[in-house]
Amino acid sequence: MDTSGLQIRVAHLYPDVMNIYGDRGNVIALRYRCRARGIECAVVEITIGDPFVPAEFDLLLVGGGQDREQRRIADDLVEKGPAIRDAVESDMPVLAVCGGFQLFGHRYVDHQGGIIPGIGIFDLETHHPGPRADRSIGDVVLETDFGEIVGFENHGGRTYLGPGAVPFGTVVRGFGNNASDGSEGARYRNAIGTYLHGSVLPKNPALADALIHLALRHRYGREIELPPLDDATESRAHSSASAVAARRSRETPARS
Ligand code: GLN
Repeated sequence: MDTSGLQIRVAHLYPDVMNIYGDRGNVIALRYRCRARGIECAVVEITIGDPFVPAEFDLLLVGGGQDREQRRIADDLVEKGPAIRDAVESDMPVLAVCGGFQLFGHRYVDHQGGIIPGIGIFDLETHHPGPRADRSIGDVVLETDFGEIVGFENHGGRTYLGPGAVPFGTVVRGFGNNASDGSEGARYRNAIGTYLHGSVLPKNPALADALIHLALRHRYGREIELPPLDDATESRAHSSASAVAARRSRETPARS
């Protein structure tokens, strides 16, 4: 399939506020994997006060942030909530990472017990157990519909899925949503939420390509096969991250 000349339009929400642990790398990975196939990847940065018009986009990204940053964007995100829900219901692909993922649920009770409202894309809630509780920090390996996914997590909040949500993946190494039920992230239609930083897309090319494929389908209304890329470097990075996670999990006793 020749994909040269095609285009996807990416809405990057709050890149100036929600970009902790290098989540901007997800945009860089999408741009590279599109450009290598002759696909134009137009990225529009949308922050507090900017409009979000679903019809103008094919893919939506939001990164992570500490509780303070989440409080900063919450009111604006709630205002954008109905438009984002329309986008998700139109099967626009979404990647929401960590703090952004939490606020795509119903609410986040932060480390001070304050309630930060979410926009209810995912049927879930997140509760931070307080400043003295251990954070979920470390390397993560998941089993998902996209194969093995690797990354890094650093969050205090514990996320609990409701009946309307399915996990993005099953934890093989790491803590995941709440360090107890083995779930990680969430999915609803073409929206994916995950705790994985790293950033997650460069080391997981199958996930990046799945998002590009879904964005092309959203834009052109048909299945468009992506020509394969030489992913030797990405595969080495993925294998290295997976091996580090395995080694460290042997060295670090599981948290009770
Ligand atoms: N502030 C949230 C928490 O601690 C999310 C952190 C993040 O985005 N890395 O759970």
